[in-house]
Amino acid sequence: MNKKNLLSYFNNASSKDWKDWRWQMNNRVRKTETLHQLFGKNLPDKDNLNKLNSIYPVNVSPYYLSLINDNVFEDPVGIQCLPQAQEITAFQEYPHDPLEEENHMPSPKIINRYPDRCLALVTENCATYCRHCNRKRLWAQPAGINFKKRLQHIARYLGASEQIREVIISGGDPLIYDDDKIEMILACFKAIPHVEILRIGSRSPVVMPMRITRKLCRLLKRYRPLWFNTQFNHASEITPDAARACNMLLETGIPVSNQSVLLKGVNDSPQAMRDLLFGLQKISVRPYYLFHCEPARGCGHFRTDMKSSIKLMQDIRRECSGLALPQYVADMPGDLGKIPLLALAEQPKDSLSKHQYFFDNFD
Ligand SMILES: *Cc1c(COP(=O)(O)O)cnc(C)c1O
Ligand code: SF4
Repeated sequence: MNKKNLLSYFNNASSKDWKDWRWQMNNRVRKTETLHQLFGKNLPDKDNLNKLNSIYPVNVSPYYLSLINDNVFEDPVGIQCLPQAQEITAFQEYPHDPLEEENHMPSPKIINRYPDRCLALVTENCATYCRHCNRKRLWAQPAGINFKKRLQHIARYLGASEQIREVIISGGDPLIYDDDKIEMILACFKAIPHVEILRIGSRSPVVMPMRITRKLCRLLKRYRPLWFNTQFNHASEITPDAARACNMLLETGIPVSNQSVLLKGVNDSPQAMRDLLFGLQKISVRPYYLFHCEPARGCGHFRTDMKSSIKLMQDIRRECSGLALPQYVADMPGDLGKIPLLALAEQPKDSLSKHQYFFDNFD
């Protein structure tokens, strides 16, 4: 959207404010009235918007809003951050928790589905809520635990689980915390003798790139080997600000990889996918995974047809540098984990038949 109009909405915030991640956090758009003022008739009507907001709250940083160009639901950024009626009308048969994560929580705020690595959910909060988020069930729930208690629970589990060599610091988005809290998290996990590797999963470089500061990079540098995974889903998100944020991490010695979600209307055309992958390669961010969109409740309208998506990625594989090619996977419940779909297309999938709803009409 027109940044000038947007700034006037925020009382003509200065460019110093705009570049300050705290200003971005404090001015996240969370009210449906604000969305109506900014985007008017393009959105669902007021009643529907309020209903949507009560189930899946609205939450978008001013920076990410400023990337919306066209008609909001034809714009790859608008589609990802603005609420649509289908979230609560379509595909209600899908489960809230398709990966059965809640059966794999041996301790509060830990998801452990693999022997050697696990997720530490350090927050449920994000700089921007993505409408396709597979954990959107958590947005409207109170966290039920304060920061210190949360960290204690996680540390106790990790300390007692000697098979875990890698901790994925996730959420939510861990970078919503200030540097002091991030340092507490990193120091706490690093102090566990058998934890060899830390990984941060954060969408901040995409939705609030000003969060990546020199000071944060100096802090992160002290906790290497530290790997950073983010989530660009469309080339229009690779702005100079986002590229600078990734470059700062890379220059710090922190490898940056990308986990995209395949989203209908965002990146499911050959052109959009190529532009995304080549765009990432050009900023030295390694495409790591492309997730088939999960059958999570509230996300059904983002799901693409699996058969044509496999064809899309097979075509792209032929004409794309291996360095720009992510592994296209479907994440499956429990310890089945992430299944590479191009390999699956060439093999029988008997063992997966009880999870048929993951594949819809794919055979
Ligand atoms: C995806 C995931 C991981 C990480 O898997 P990688 O293949 O190493 O990226 C770890 N734990 C859980 C619960 C996951 O969902
Ligand atoms: S940043 Fe990640 S956890 Fe947060 S809403 Fe987006 S996909 Fe979900």
